[in-house]
Amino acid sequence: MIKKLYNRKSKEQLLAQIEKEDFRRKTISFYRYVKIADPKTMRDFLYVNFEKFGCLGRIYVAHEGINAQMNVPEHNFEAFDKFIQSIPEFVGVPYKVAVEEKGKSSFLKLIVKVRPKIVADGLDDSTFDPANTGAYASAEEVNEMIDKGATVIDMRNFYEAEIGHFENAKIMPVDTFREQLAKVENMFSDKKDEEVLLYCTGGIRCEKASAWMKHKGFKNVKHIKGGVIDYAHQVKEKGLPNKFKGKNFVFDERLGEKVGDEIISVCHLCDKNKTDEHRHCKNENCHVLHLSCDDCLEKYKGYCSNFCRLCDALPSKMNRFLVRRDRRQQHGNQYRKNYLRKNFDNF
Ligand SMILES: [Zn+2]
Ligand SMILES: [Zn+2]
Repeated sequence: MIKKLYNRKSKEQLLAQIEKEDFRRKTISFYRYVKIADPKTMRDFLYVNFEKFGCLGRIYVAHEGINAQMNVPEHNFEAFDKFIQSIPEFVGVPYKVAVEEKGKSSFLKLIVKVRPKIVADGLDDSTFDPANTGAYASAEEVNEMIDKGATVIDMRNFYEAEIGHFENAKIMPVDTFREQLAKVENMFSDKKDEEVLLYCTGGIRCEKASAWMKHKGFKNVKHIKGGVIDYAHQVKEKGLPNKFKGKNFVFDERLGEKVGDEIISVCHLCDKNKTDEHRHCKNENCHVLHLSCDDCLEKYKGYCSNFCRLCDALPSKMNRFLVRRDRRQQHGNQYRKNYLRKNFDNF
């Protein structure tokens, strides 16, 4: 245990180590809803092997399946693929490869975790069958549906949707997928007989969301197989018009992969300058994810507010007390409040 603590590397050390690597990494993600009888054993088995291949990333294992966002050293990719395909539960699982490929790791560590679900959904309904998913829509169909004016619902959190989304997509004022599933039926109850298109980052949330909406009586629910990541690939490959505007938010150190060139979001601090740079507040007790333009970065020194900047100069106990208290009472939901005020006049 003590040895382990001593071996723990700081973020800077890990970054430096990755910088020094003289090989390229392939950034991939994959998921599958499949029954895993013993997630703990599967977890250990995957960890040992992924570590052997030098993989980094975040992998969740649950009774309902696997969800992996990770990278693999290019020279080990073939062996890695062979390994994955040798596991009966994962035979034939497709990998999504990230569009923006710098060849360097965007993850610092390898984390493989057992979770109750691969995507936290908060659902507790024994009559719900998550395997009864909606039909898939190809990139061509997506474009067609958007042109026809179908209802397009962004099944991601607000902070993901605000920096990039499909033309005319409905963005929901939510911070979690769980919250979104709870709200989606009521928000779109008048669309139950119409054509509805769902999308998310890599498709995994829509597998469940489309099944859930069908369960709730939506008759014509489609979703993008492979999510925005795959849409972007298809658009590139087939030379289609790109109807996704802005940045695709991905869960790793890069916080966002560019799909188009356009910046569609505005700085949270000045409400003026366009930016799609998500940053965490420099005050560790706040750490809130926010959009900040370069001017405000300079002005607020990397903090989300003057409050957080001033508190950070205080003794640490006082800082913690004030910021946590303040976040809980007033500015913890600052985005939500901002969002509701600025963007949801129609909801
Ligand atoms: Zn600003
Ligand atoms: Zn802050």
